[in-house]
Amino acid sequence: MRRRITGTTDEIIFLGTGGARYIIAKQLRATGGMLFRIGGKNILIDPGPESLYRLLTYVPKFNPQTIDAIILTHKHIDHSADINVYLDVITEGGFKKRGILLAPDDAFGEDGVVYKYLVQFLSKIMIIKPQVEFKLDGLVFHFPLKHDHRVETYGFKMVYEDYALSYICDTKFFPALISAYKANILILNLLRLEPSEIDHLSIPDCEEIIVKIKPRVAIITHFGMTTLRAGPWNLARQLAQKTGVTVLAAEDGKHYEIKKLLSYS
Ligand SMILES: [Zn+2]
Repeated sequence: MRRRITGTTDEIIFLGTGGARYIIAKQLRATGGMLFRIGGKNILIDPGPESLYRLLTYVPKFNPQTIDAIILTHKHIDHSADINVYLDVITEGGFKKRGILLAPDDAFGEDGVVYKYLVQFLSKIMIIKPQVEFKLDGLVFHFPLKHDHRVETYGFKMVYEDYALSYICDTKFFPALISAYKANILILNLLRLEPSEIDHLSIPDCEEIIVKIKPRVAIITHFGMTTLRAGPWNLARQLAQKTGVTVLAAEDGKHYEIKKLLSYS
């Protein structure tokens, strides 16, 4: 049997688990996004403020020039602040044409967040739209639908080998999220305790999503002031009790091995 040699354990590393302005301003939690090291590929998701610094701190032996692709789910600053820094690093200041960037259309252009002069150095740019699919060797990223958020926003469902992982980033709750993001591993941006007019998921929203999707494990992240004060681990425990699903509260710098995540049931 042919064996895949990647040299690393497939894992997700949280370069930040905070969201929204007060958390950014005080860096009460880091806001660097996530690094997926899966199938021998390195994919960076939502590099918010201080992302590169957090990456170098939390994964000290990792060379950021080996990032294969960056996914920007939307242009809000807590998801995008370091995007240009990474584009410069990956392309070695424009001397190497490499790297893939996926982002919604409004991340580019006059009111966008990606510097025009850096875009030309990339080997590929993909505009995220509903139903767009991105394949990178054996990894498939599917962007099922546009979220209900103030700017153009997309989550994704990643399929690899025999499992699926969904990332439901910033959005107001709406029922179509459930069928769009069925997966074994579910990552949810839980910014608020209570539902409100602000377009983010709350505790009751996450409860409904977890109950209906029934993943093997759910990971909550992107905490705002109210969820941080309540204690993310308390919230995870309450959600686990109510849903019967293992729920973890993401921690800054923590590595989550995919094999371990799939072992929950
Ligand atoms: Zn946002």
